[in-house]
Amino acid sequence: MTNGAQMGARLATEDASLTTEGTPAMGAEVACPACGSAVAGQAVEVYGRCSLFACAKCDLQFWEPRTMPDARWYEQMYGGRDEKLLPLEPGHKYFLADPPGPGRGELLDIGCGTGNFLTAAREAGYEVSGTELDRNAARFAKERVGLPRVFPLTISGFVEQYPGKKFEVVTFFEVLEHQAAPVEFVEKVKACLQPGGFVALSVPNRERWLTGPDVLDYPPNHFLRWNSRALTNLLGTHGFEVLAVREQPAGFVHTAQMINMALRTGLSRPSASEGPASFRDVMQMEAEQAAAVLRRAPTARQRAMQLLGRMKYAACFAAALAVYPYIRMRGKKGAYLYCLARCKD
Ligand SMILES: [Zn+2]
Repeated sequence: MTNGAQMGARLATEDASLTTEGTPAMGAEVACPACGSAVAGQAVEVYGRCSLFACAKCDLQFWEPRTMPDARWYEQMYGGRDEKLLPLEPGHKYFLADPPGPGRGELLDIGCGTGNFLTAAREAGYEVSGTELDRNAARFAKERVGLPRVFPLTISGFVEQYPGKKFEVVTFFEVLEHQAAPVEFVEKVKACLQPGGFVALSVPNRERWLTGPDVLDYPPNHFLRWNSRALTNLLGTHGFEVLAVREQPAGFVHTAQMINMALRTGLSRPSASEGPASFRDVMQMEAEQAAAVLRRAPTARQRAMQLLGRMKYAACFAAALAVYPYIRMRGKKGAYLYCLARCKD
């Protein structure tokens, strides 16, 4: 059985079935969800029923319309991640090693998954709590990883249920790009921060080196595309002093993935009878239809294509060895944009 995460991971590096670029539609005037400015003019990109707009004032790119999926959607799409402890992400490591960070205190991690970061933060001396919408992941974190304070709530739900609870640190790694209403999200974060409290976060860097579309970076999975300017603008206008911003450089694996993406061979292109194989398309389906696609066993042709695809990907690692020094020299950016900030209120 192919689950969402595996499918996403596979297709994130090879998706030859995409045809939606290059047809920008005239957009009506829309408001930037971060700074409120009116954004008029053509969409930067159109995908399905959604259009991507760019705010000239704060530099955020955002999709319209934005309707956040429910908990079931996240369970369906990220289902492969809810029964294991994933390795730490660069943002987690930056925070735990960041000298201006608080170093101790009560910490809340929004979207904590199965608790990989919370486990490391606890070992580093923090008293840890987390929220996670995927109920299976939340249960795994509590029962198997031994993190008693993991709540299957949104940040709004948490603030409502625990109105007096304040933390020294609130973290949200790879969460802000999923938000339909970033200002409301930041206000909820502030509502559970102590005076002078810290936030640490990461988002996919919009300026990362890409040789094709990143299929996970589309609605309803991601609604917002950030760069360091858009991120520091949002935090600055909501009472935060930005202490550190880090843009991860493109690494060796990223280089291999981009070579793989650039060399389109059609190995992942579905035949008409096999239905859509792009994770980007599955994400926009109704729940039942998406569930059926994710449950469907791969055909012999698909399995053969997957094998060839993996062989091609392995060959790209060899190619990456040759070009990586050049990529480093050119200063290409990787996927992670990390930020540490402190509340001035
Ligand atoms: Zn804006």
